[in-house]
Amino acid sequence: MRALVFNDAGHPVQPTLQTDRTAPKPGPGEVLIRPTRMGVCATDLELCKGYMGFRGVLGHEFVGVVEAAGDGQSKKTGKDWVGKRVVGEINCVCGTCDMCKAGLRSHCRDRTVLGIAGRDGCFAERFVLPAVNLHEVPNNVDDDHAVFTEPLAAALQVVRQLKIEGRPYITVLGDGRLGLLCAQVLSRLNATVRVVGKHEPKLRLCEKWGIPARLLGDVGLRKDQDIVVDATGSATGLTTAMQMVRPRGTLVLKTTVAPGSTPPHTPASDGVKPRAERSEAPDQTSIDLSPLVIDEIHVIGSRCGPFRDALQTLSAGHVDVVSLVTRRMKLADGVDVLRAANQPGALKVLLEP
Ligand SMILES: [Zn+2]
Ligand SMILES: [Zn+2]
Repeated sequence: MRALVFNDAGHPVQPTLQTDRTAPKPGPGEVLIRPTRMGVCATDLELCKGYMGFRGVLGHEFVGVVEAAGDGQSKKTGKDWVGKRVVGEINCVCGTCDMCKAGLRSHCRDRTVLGIAGRDGCFAERFVLPAVNLHEVPNNVDDDHAVFTEPLAAALQVVRQLKIEGRPYITVLGDGRLGLLCAQVLSRLNATVRVVGKHEPKLRLCEKWGIPARLLGDVGLRKDQDIVVDATGSATGLTTAMQMVRPRGTLVLKTTVAPGSTPPHTPASDGVKPRAERSEAPDQTSIDLSPLVIDEIHVIGSRCGPFRDALQTLSAGHVDVVSLVTRRMKLADGVDVLRAANQPGALKVLLEP
């Protein structure tokens, strides 16, 4: 089968389109999925720069149809998934560690992550995922919308983690895919939301949604925002965010910065730390964190979110995701897909098998 793979076949290591990869077989509790639409994410691009030391099939954003099931999948989930149109959570967990037992499955200490850590991803004609990760897609949510479930869930996680009181002023810093999704879900709350970014065409989308948007160079950094969401995907985002948030305000971090990296090497938000680096302290020599102490800032890290809420939000038509699609390509386009997603004006590149 075809698969977009990042492995050691080339020197230097680079993504390649394999055409003769053996289709995987679902193990116990797993299902085999035929993806019908896939989304390219900043994390995929970062993995190709060496983030996480990942090797294997790329991709974690998909909607698809379950084609086969391994032993015991319906026993575990109480449902026969074969033939169902599904999306799937990306963290594959052990179910027995302290985090899993506490209900914090996305923080499983022994997890693999679809197309990000220790597990082949979805940029292939077939891939496998545990049945417990699946969510059936409502009929009124078509593939072009359903493929946004994972990034929308990540945006909704911000809403879940914030306590909104007294109509706060919220700035979403960053006008990329994730920032624009965060802005749309936050603007539905009892809050005054604006987007601050660097790209005029992307900011114009916000106007279409009735969300005020400003260029970073045009706003004063006055420490006057109650809440700032850093969705820049850039190591410099945190410094800017600290200059925007008011004393005793809240900073939500959706950007991950790999340990030891210097700007602008900046993986986006849905990964986990590489195993080898989990115990190392991040290199903070280039970022002055003292404003967090002086201004007594409440800092919230934010990663994966609720798929069920995301599907409901899509089903209710509460967010515009279609405007985020800048290009449609085929799996057979191979590495060009990643190049297209890397273009400055690109928002979401969607893939078809
Ligand atoms: Zn993603
Ligand atoms: Zn676990």
